[in-house]
Amino acid sequence: MPAQCAWCGAAQIDGMDCQTLHEYLTGYDFTPANAVPHAIHFLQVTCFMVQHERYSDEALVWAQTMLRMRLETGMSARDLRRFMTSRAQGSDSSTRTWRFNRAPDAQPLPKIAWEITIADVAQRMGREVSYAELVTRWAHATLRQMSALLV
Ligand SMILES: [Zn+2]
Repeated sequence: MPAQCAWCGAAQIDGMDCQTLHEYLTGYDFTPANAVPHAIHFLQVTCFMVQHERYSDEALVWAQTMLRMRLETGMSARDLRRFMTSRAQGSDSSTRTWRFNRAPDAQPLPKIAWEITIADVAQRMGREVSYAELVTRWAHATLRQMSALLV
């Protein structure tokens, strides 16, 4: 039995845990030859953070809003970027009063049986569907299931 991730429940792939996969995908996102749009990188990071309890309660609300804007309203990557860092959204680092990172002593979040994990994306990329399509499906599933984290 392969080791399971304590956060998202994914099985390790060839001894690689989710953090290692996340670093691998981030490297992939930033390799110019792969031409990964910024919006896809954003989804990759956000899904990973949500599924691994890295976000504070405030950041979870922010992440849900961002995922909705991108996936449901079809906001362009450029507008999303502008919106993400806007003062109105409260995420401008110079005026933000809350922290993105979940404090070690924060309330534990309910466990969710995620339909799609980073391991699924890593395992299937380069096969039947494009990486961007896999990440987008992952984001849709994460958005659908993450409301259980916001109580
Ligand atoms: Zn995991």
